[in-house]
Amino acid sequence: MQTDFLIVGGGAVGLTSAQALLQMGYRVTLVERGTTGQEASWAGGGILSPLCPWDYGEAVTQLALRGMGMFGEAMVLLQASTGIDPEYRRCGMLVLPPMQEELALEWCANHQFAARQMDLAGVLDGQQGRGLLLPDVAQVRNPRLLQALRERVTLFGGKIVEQREVLGFETAGDRVTGLRTSQGTLVADAYVVATGAWSKVLLGEHGRGLEVKPVRGQILLFKFDTPPIDRILLKESLYFIPRQDGHVLVGSTLEDVGFDKSVTAEARTSLMQGVRELFPTWPEPIQQWAGFRPGSPDNIPTIGRHPYLANLYANTGHFRYGVTMSLASAELLVNEIEGEQQPFDTAAYAWR
Ligand SMILES: Cc1cc2nc3c(=O)[nH]c(=O)nc-3n(C[C@H](O)[C@H](O)[C@H](O)COP(=O)(O)OP(=O)(O)OC[C@H]3O[C@@H](n4cnc5c(N)ncnc54)[C@H](O)[C@@H]3O)c2cc1C
Repeated sequence: MQTDFLIVGGGAVGLTSAQALLQMGYRVTLVERGTTGQEASWAGGGILSPLCPWDYGEAVTQLALRGMGMFGEAMVLLQASTGIDPEYRRCGMLVLPPMQEELALEWCANHQFAARQMDLAGVLDGQQGRGLLLPDVAQVRNPRLLQALRERVTLFGGKIVEQREVLGFETAGDRVTGLRTSQGTLVADAYVVATGAWSKVLLGEHGRGLEVKPVRGQILLFKFDTPPIDRILLKESLYFIPRQDGHVLVGSTLEDVGFDKSVTAEARTSLMQGVRELFPTWPEPIQQWAGFRPGSPDNIPTIGRHPYLANLYANTGHFRYGVTMSLASAELLVNEIEGEQQPFDTAAYAWR
């Protein structure tokens, strides 16, 4: 089958890119080394917001806010068309002290981001003082989101090729002429790299200017008969994400250890210490896992055309917020391909 775009990588970013290109009428094939939706996008917490949004620069803020704004409607459509519920829920996020309250309130006011100070006594056992409730922060359940996205790409006529690793690029002049894969060469008019933490490895000599490296994150999973908390809690670097069925995810670590996907006793101990401080009676976790965030400087992804290969694009390096940013990032990529006007200045994401 003749293909306009070959997308490499079947995480949230590759799948939403495929969806956006298919919606524009392109013929799309997505190539995935393993099974789609099993890496960072599976491992993540599914919080649809930066953790402390006021900690980031405008490049992160603009993309995250646009992505967050797109999710509600997109998830209704996704569920209606695929029958798979991604469990999108605007559950809110309560930020516990210590925090930079004044800075946070000012940032929220400047960005029309709903925020309400909340007395913690009576809300959380043993907690004193004041927290900041961000009522519009939502969550999704990652594995379900990815399953639904995969289904939607297929429904739109996209082709998904799994268990096929892309090994490198064949080029002639300023163009990519094919992808060398574990099972022969694949050819398209244009190519998108959406391989997350592996993007720089895959690009090899063509990876100039792309600063993406794996940053391991570990999560603990708890299970209760009924949800012990009803909104996301954030205390400094530790977050608690309650699912409706009584699962609670607690994360996460930020570890610069290369592509070592082990789960460690150290991470479990340090996460459990934070859990015990807030919830001394919680049971032991039922599971622990790790994933590789596509780490990038200042958490700014690279979205757009390669510096010298005219038909090669990147959509990668979303670091801590790839799910949050995914829909907006796909929109920006398609705008660039189509030569359409962007919703805001996108110079910060350019591949230089
Ligand atoms: C512990 C943890 C918690 C997180 N929490 C959140 C959160 O709450 N909210 C949020 O927005 N984000 C969160 N993130 C970040 C988010 O998960 C990532 O930014 C996002 O998943 C990146 O998506 P991706 O599609 O670029 O990468 P991935 O999901 O990793 O997908 C890349 C895909 O490319 C494939 N691939 C790689 N190399 C090749 C090759 N050579 N050939 C073919 N295929 C290849 C891989 O197999 C993989 O499927 C979290 C991440 C972690 C690890």
